[in-house]
Amino acid sequence: MTIGAEIIDAAHRIPVEHIINGRGIKLRGKIERLGPCPICGGTDRFSINTKKQLFNCRGCRKGGDVIALVQFLDGCDFREACAILTGETPSHSVERQAVECVSGIGDYERQQHDKAQRLWRGSKAAAGTPVENYLHWRLNGNAGQCRRR
Ligand SMILES: [Zn+2]
Repeated sequence: MTIGAEIIDAAHRIPVEHIINGRGIKLRGKIERLGPCPICGGTDRFSINTKKQLFNCRGCRKGGDVIALVQFLDGCDFREACAILTGETPSHSVERQAVECVSGIGDYERQQHDKAQRLWRGSKAAAGTPVENYLHWRLNGNAGQCRRR
């Protein structure tokens, strides 16, 4: 599934400082804000630029826009980051685990569904088989008159 441009736009409209503040990450400065990296530590290796709406970590050698920032902080993929930014997925870590758990079940169900579909496609049509006789018998309710050959 591809992500709609409107979702990416909506995600980009979230300011990087909003994510930083929301995660309780303390940085110094106004436009160019520095501080310890939430991932690798240090004292001033992590920075965001509120004008350019970018982040950068010299320790992790990672940087980019707000979507990349969420990917960086949460270790999620682009699609998940967009979902978190647009509020489709709770960004709270505990809730996130719950979501991951649910999506795990989703995978299992999808597999079962695929399997069921394969079995269904692999099955033969009832016509011309004993199943047809059986269905005739059931549908017509002629319990005592099951057709025999
Ligand atoms: Zn880092």
